[in-house]
Amino acid sequence: MNFAEDQQGPADHEVTTGARPLHRDSLLVAAGRGAGKPGAPLNVPIVLASNFRAGPDSSIAGREYSRDDGTPGWEALESVLGQLDGGQAVIFSSGMGAATAVLDLMPAGSVIVAPDGCYAGVLGGLADAQAAGRWNVVLVDIADTAAVVAALEKADLLWIESPTNPLLDVADLPVLIDAARARGALVAVDNTFATALRQRPLALGADVVVHSATKFIGGHSDLLLGAAIASDPELVARLRRRREVGGATPGGLEVFLALRGLRTMDMRLARAEQNADVLARRLAGVPQVLRVRYPGLADDPGHSRASKQMCGFGAVLSFDMADAETADAVCASVQLVVPATSVGGVETTIERRAKLPGQEHVPSGLIRLSVGCEHVDDLWDDISGAIRAACSDQHSNIPQASGPPALAARHQY
Ligand code: PLP
Repeated sequence: MNFAEDQQGPADHEVTTGARPLHRDSLLVAAGRGAGKPGAPLNVPIVLASNFRAGPDSSIAGREYSRDDGTPGWEALESVLGQLDGGQAVIFSSGMGAATAVLDLMPAGSVIVAPDGCYAGVLGGLADAQAAGRWNVVLVDIADTAAVVAALEKADLLWIESPTNPLLDVADLPVLIDAARARGALVAVDNTFATALRQRPLALGADVVVHSATKFIGGHSDLLLGAAIASDPELVARLRRRREVGGATPGGLEVFLALRGLRTMDMRLARAEQNADVLARRLAGVPQVLRVRYPGLADDPGHSRASKQMCGFGAVLSFDMADAETADAVCASVQLVVPATSVGGVETTIERRAKLPGQEHVPSGLIRLSVGCEHVDDLWDDISGAIRAACSDQHSNIPQASGPPALAARHQY
């Protein structure tokens, strides 16, 4: 095989076993690899190329310049992500790159309805555009279905995030998507927290799904990447155009790492979600914890909705301590859990969200926990110990740690 042939994109974007489409865990492993000639690498290599050699017909493989035409790595990742969500994926340099590309589809003067509790970066972008007179942004409580439907009257775009970051509010996706479409509005769903393995908004009628692939897709806290997925080819072409002229193009190494991370997403998410479920239940039994927010808990306001539209509740939960000081003390006392922002990595991270700008709607004592793949008893020892330390002046009847003894040294992981 010569070098040029080696650089061709994957040819078999649809992997099947003949009888029926692959299950999604198989698809995660097998899709996007290409037909593969003997001697070809199993994984699509890292392709660091801005431009490609021209042939007699002025280009090879239809590729001239990667901002316009992509790379084999882009194609491989887009193939897997598209099949997972049931559409065609367009990848971007970050989740915000993907979100901005979708929002940028809206002409000046558009009415955009969005959750008042959606991801801070999206809220910030909407606020900037509103201040510049570009769009009319209507913020709603996305869990209040009647209020959202009422706000849709003149909407051109309904932006949904569900579950939301960091309040874990759950939107009624089928009802809201139908209501928005009946009024002729475009519907975009930020599916970052649920992932395509737990929620498929395109199948429910949404026009476009957005992911911060930085989170569960990459899964190892080592890259920034985003994706928008749509099934209407015209919409896909418009998203590609946004990337081409907006320039939020993914890097070759990030694409390679994201695809590598994606191969194990099913197992990572299953383990992390199982851990999150156990931790949510244990936290709910701690008197110093005022509230646990996790749609998997039977008494969570989003539980019945999430049970219908998701197949699993994800790996992020939040819990409320009495005030900012106590929450900060919890975050400062953990040893195994990492005090850090972001979610979706194999390591459990903890953060008091209200300390960040743009989080004024978040209770000051709210702690977001992105649960990872460690042993759940080690996590519980660490978190319950941190709560005990933070609340040491209060009578503490936090259930004793179970499993092996807590870690001796800080920052061991
Ligand atoms: N959407 C959600 C729900 C997020 O949590 C984030 C980032 O935290 C984004 C979008 C933006 O993603 P990125 O940081 O990859 O730009």
